[in-house]
Amino acid sequence: MLSFNNIPVPAEGEKIEIRDGQLVVPNRPIIPFIEGDGTGRDIWRAASRVFNAAVEKAYRGERQVVWYEIFAGEKAYKKFGEWLPRDTVEAIREFTVAIKGPLTTPVGGGIRSLNVTLRQVLDLYACVRPVRWYRGVPSPVKHPEKLNVVIFRENTEDVYAGIEFQQGTEQAQKTIEFLRNLGYSVRPDSGIGIKPISIFATKRLIRKAIRYALENGRRVVTLVHKGNIMKFTEGAFRDWGYQLAKEEFSDVTVTEQELWEKHDGRLPEGKILINDRIADSMFQQVLTRPDEYSVIATPNLNGDYLSDACAAQVGGLGLAPGANIGDYLALFEATHGTAPKYADKDVINPSAVILAGVMMFEYIGWREAASLITTAIERTIEQKIVTYDLARLMEGARQVKTSEFATAIIENMG
Ligand code: NAP
Repeated sequence: MLSFNNIPVPAEGEKIEIRDGQLVVPNRPIIPFIEGDGTGRDIWRAASRVFNAAVEKAYRGERQVVWYEIFAGEKAYKKFGEWLPRDTVEAIREFTVAIKGPLTTPVGGGIRSLNVTLRQVLDLYACVRPVRWYRGVPSPVKHPEKLNVVIFRENTEDVYAGIEFQQGTEQAQKTIEFLRNLGYSVRPDSGIGIKPISIFATKRLIRKAIRYALENGRRVVTLVHKGNIMKFTEGAFRDWGYQLAKEEFSDVTVTEQELWEKHDGRLPEGKILINDRIADSMFQQVLTRPDEYSVIATPNLNGDYLSDACAAQVGGLGLAPGANIGDYLALFEATHGTAPKYADKDVINPSAVILAGVMMFEYIGWREAASLITTAIERTIEQKIVTYDLARLMEGARQVKTSEFATAIIENMG
């Protein structure tokens, strides 16, 4: 019998397969989950009840997720003496789609971050973050409902590539010297970081963003970059993006220039607009003209900042799901951390992991289950039944525990 971390794979489930470039999802898919550290335990308990109830309600027993626990973080360390056992990574590879709670970043021990390691070893090159507002959620802006974007952030390159030399080291000195030989003057007391952006990584990210737009009826894909200053990295990202749209999607895309020259500014039926914005102006635009944007593709650092700024606009991190997706492999997660001070108190907001589950169900094509959950969360928040984090921002809220919030969502699936 197949096992990972010495835990047998449940016999009643089947693997999600990839055939002819498509996911083939059985009625009882085995989906590995990492519970997560700290508040992860409370959140997972609540979220998994919501997932199971939605699937049961949507498919009346015809479909069912067969959950399979895999281990990372503190729980893995306590059980196996390792923060990220190799079998955990292999299980995700084997079963293609997985979901995780937040993980503690180990201090020392040679691992920078478990999340970064997972992204790198599984080549999950796109960090996908949908940002939309749910009715009733307190927001710092007047019209939070106008923002509804899906951000595709490149996950493997840019200043996050990890090529950094500390000030004063031989590597830093050698690099400074190398640059001097090329005619660039860098102060000798500098630390150095390198920003690689490749054609390969740029095109595969933007390809994914355009395909997502096509499959989900979204009609604008915006390339966000700082190419006016960093011409050969961020500027190249923009240029390669337009090139890709022309090479692979010319029958379904138009650029902003073509829109005005050929179509009087009106987007023709069945076409997607590809445009680009400079990053600093984009931060203004998501506040002043949020409804003009739909899918955003951007290099790593811009994406990091922009996704948190957008999340804040619609009510903050407690409601922000995300996914790290490669070619088929996908790992869904909340974007917040373990919030350790609330661990095992049954108070934390489980919505981000629940919404990560919604993304997961959409990804495997179980849209009925996904939309049941989305509607039920929305109803619950509208009824002002919320956890402490939203209760403190709402007037007349009924503050409930994590588990009670899950129960209210399930009751609202009717
Ligand atoms: P955090 O765990 O996200 O918590 C910071 C604060 O955000 C909490 O104290 C709480 O604010 C609020 N918050 C976070 N999640 C919430 C939720 N579900 N419901 C309501 N409020 C929520 O960030 P951190 O304290 O910087 O990091 C703690 C640990 O998590 C670290 O080990 C870090 O490395 C790790 N981390 C993991 C991930 C991941 O696995 N994806 C991501 C980020 C951080 P209030 O106190 O105001 O209520």
